[in-house]
Amino acid sequence: MSKYYKAKRVRNLYDPLSRKPYAISRAGIELFQKCPRCFYLNKRLGTATPPAYPYSLNTAVDILLKKEFDLFRRLAVPHPTATYFGINCIPFAHKDLETWRNALRGGIKHLHGPTNLIIKGAVDDIWIDAKDQLHIVDYKSTSKTGEVNIDADWQASYRHQVEVYQWLFRRNGFMVSDVAYFVYANADPGKPAFESKLEFNTKIIAYEGDDSWVEDTIIQLHKCLLAPDLPEPAHDCDYCAYFNQRSIHESSFRRSRIPRYSRSRDRRA
Ligand code: SF4
Repeated sequence: MSKYYKAKRVRNLYDPLSRKPYAISRAGIELFQKCPRCFYLNKRLGTATPPAYPYSLNTAVDILLKKEFDLFRRLAVPHPTATYFGINCIPFAHKDLETWRNALRGGIKHLHGPTNLIIKGAVDDIWIDAKDQLHIVDYKSTSKTGEVNIDADWQASYRHQVEVYQWLFRRNGFMVSDVAYFVYANADPGKPAFESKLEFNTKIIAYEGDDSWVEDTIIQLHKCLLAPDLPEPAHDCDYCAYFNQRSIHESSFRRSRIPRYSRSRDRRA
């Protein structure tokens, strides 16, 4: 087992008998939406799927975008790319912004009374418009030929992500617009050579969110945490297909070994 992975975590498990609020991150909500069984295995039993390798290039783009938008926050003027896309917003300045942006500092959170769950997440940025409404902003980066968008099925998690943040900021008393923005940086793979640099086209995509699903999902997720049994798995997951097939191979191998051992023991007898 690598030093980056513990197959059996003993801390930070959900205890149905505890009165202490239990924290569920935005990623935890997404995990529940993808598969209640994996969510239960993780939060109740302490076994998570092994982590993916870190996306270092995407993280570097995020860090640089944050620094760049912070310049315009200090000046209290719109970023030129926002102006180019006809968006009349400026980066929002607030004393808690660095906490909201940093999961290790706690992010933005809300204690959901009916379930005693603390729902939390860390935003990339917040912008504010002329009507004093906040807009959730998420930075994304990729490298693909053609235009980027956020319409694909696999990008549902992007859309849900900003909707959870809209819900969280509303629960914290802010006036939040339904319109969120994705600042999407696309590295051009069509250049003739690398020459130690990537060149990006940056597009800002407006997305009209709907956070009405969040409340009910938290209630369902809480029921899942309280359940005495493992929920059913998602049906279209490669990991469980791998695990099930591997178990079949291993048990048939074990079965084929037993008779050979038994026969030799019989002969000795
Ligand atoms: S189908 Fe299996 S491996 Fe896949 S997410 Fe669900 S429990 Fe996890």
